[in-house]
Amino acid sequence: MDDCIFCKIVRHEIPSEIIFEDKDIMVFLDINPTTNGDTLIIPKKHYKDMFEVPRELLNYIEDSYKSIYQIYKKKLKCDGLTLTTNMDYGQEIKHFHMHFIPRYKNDDVKYLSNKDILKDIKDIKKIIDENN
Ligand code: AMP
Ligand code: ZN
Repeated sequence: MDDCIFCKIVRHEIPSEIIFEDKDIMVFLDINPTTNGDTLIIPKKHYKDMFEVPRELLNYIEDSYKSIYQIYKKKLKCDGLTLTTNMDYGQEIKHFHMHFIPRYKNDDVKYLSNKDILKDIKDIKKIIDENN
């Protein structure tokens, strides 16, 4: 995709801090990190989101988590890991990417919680169970 920023990174047309790449995937640091070592893992081929990526390639991406995590534990001394992906709303870049976010004790990262809009979980269950 000509105007996709991640495709441009894949083609080395714009700079990025590349941790690893091979013919199928690219692993690079997020320009706006949530924690130290906040990383993006992408297929080199452009797919909009996780649901479009072939199973084999998803498996390959998943296989990479373990080795990256081992390296980051050793080098960055992280204590944990959060993996996320956004789709549609919340997805700024429409080229599938996994957010690989090393976690640190007391990093104070709080995810996806907005108490103001939360309904009771029993009501949510009812809504999900309703026929259309
Ligand atoms: P999302 O909102 O899930 O689409 O996430 C997009 C992510 O890409 C954000 O965390 C951005 O900080 C990151 N990002 C945007 N442009 C770049 C870039 N040129 N290099 C590295 N990361 C980027
Ligand atoms: Zn792309």
